[in-house]
Amino acid sequence: MPGVRECDTVGAMSNCLFCRIIAGELPAAKVYEDDQIVAFDDIQPQAPVHVLIVPRKHIPTLNDLDAADGPLVGRMVQVATGIARDRGTDTAGYRTLINVNEGGGQSVYHVHLHLLGGRQLQYGLG
Ligand code: AMP
Ligand code: ZN
Repeated sequence: MPGVRECDTVGAMSNCLFCRIIAGELPAAKVYEDDQIVAFDDIQPQAPVHVLIVPRKHIPTLNDLDAADGPLVGRMVQVATGIARDRGTDTAGYRTLINVNEGGGQSVYHVHLHLLGGRQLQYGLG
């Protein structure tokens, strides 16, 4: 697929912020990493727990997933639930979300799952 590359094996995509963090070119407060996924604290946290779960594979938006990415997305959710447990917010509750394109509030075009917790979250569309 054009524009979609494996940034861990092919080299950092210099114009992508999250590829640069994954490649170690930019700093981040990493909380988890494995062969497929890196997770780090959001630099502008919206809650006491605000972690971004990011695939090493550069996929710009959810619209760019292909059929083979299903297990990767499942793995991202599993990593999020594990971090929620580690941060002690699993029982009280938390939220996971993925913003898509401008209308969905996406600002970094490398798919990432937000994990938000540690406070009461209101349901909001704003
Ligand atoms: P989104 O708006 O869904 O694309 O989310 C992008 C998120 O990345 C925002 O919550 C930003 O605060 C966060 N962010 C931007 N730059 C960095 C960075 N250098 N390290 C960690 N998080 C970042
Ligand atoms: Zn990227």
